[in-house]
Amino acid sequence: MPITTEDTLRWLKQYAQVLHEQRDYLTQLDSAIGDADHGFNMDRGFKAVSEKLAGMAGMDIGSILKTVGTTLVSTVGGASGPLYGTAFLRAGVATSGKQELYAADVVNLLTVFVEGIKARGKAQTGEKTMLDALVPALEAAKMAEAKKLDLAQLLRLSSAAAEEGVKQTIPMLATKGRASYLGERSIGHQDPGATSSWLLLKTLADTGEGVFS
Ligand code: ADP
Ligand code: MG
Repeated sequence: MPITTEDTLRWLKQYAQVLHEQRDYLTQLDSAIGDADHGFNMDRGFKAVSEKLAGMAGMDIGSILKTVGTTLVSTVGGASGPLYGTAFLRAGVATSGKQELYAADVVNLLTVFVEGIKARGKAQTGEKTMLDALVPALEAAKMAEAKKLDLAQLLRLSSAAAEEGVKQTIPMLATKGRASYLGERSIGHQDPGATSSWLLLKTLADTGEGVFS
């Protein structure tokens, strides 16, 4: 079964909930190498998204994701707002008019999501950013699609790769964003943005458990 518009709405609503629950954790991660606002930024942005979801039933997936993008750009002040905003806007364009997403569509969505963040933030993997969770997640999704695994498995593998990517940010030296101001002192801390990216994918995989196959 593919991901439907209803699944997309459930995913985003659940992610808003997860961010609310993890707000202090994400903020704590950001207090070590940033300015202690990542949890606050994400919670605020997705609370605004959540408020708009009620009016989105029946819309195509592209319109939903574009709305997420514009909402994040307008409500989140930190670097993560324009970064996730651009990613969701591009994901919305890539899924324009679609009511259902199959494995190939998910790979395509993740591809443009990553491209959006790279275009906006000019970062690559290994710089201790959200890309260190998202790029391995994309690679895992591509491999799962090539092996013709079902969608639930693809999402589970992609989320697991993102989780592993998050752990790998700990020994990294930050060379982009606010954490880069710390130089060597950024080493030894987990990146907050990579963590929120993993949670986004984990929530999607959880949404799909027992639903997509
Ligand atoms: P700010 O750094 O403005 O306070 P947030 O705290 O909300 O914004 O987000 C910080 C996160 O943004 C970092 O943990 C990192 O993952 C991500 N980030 C920062 N700069 C970039 C960039 N140029 N490219 C990709 N991700 C970035
Ligand atoms: Mg911050």
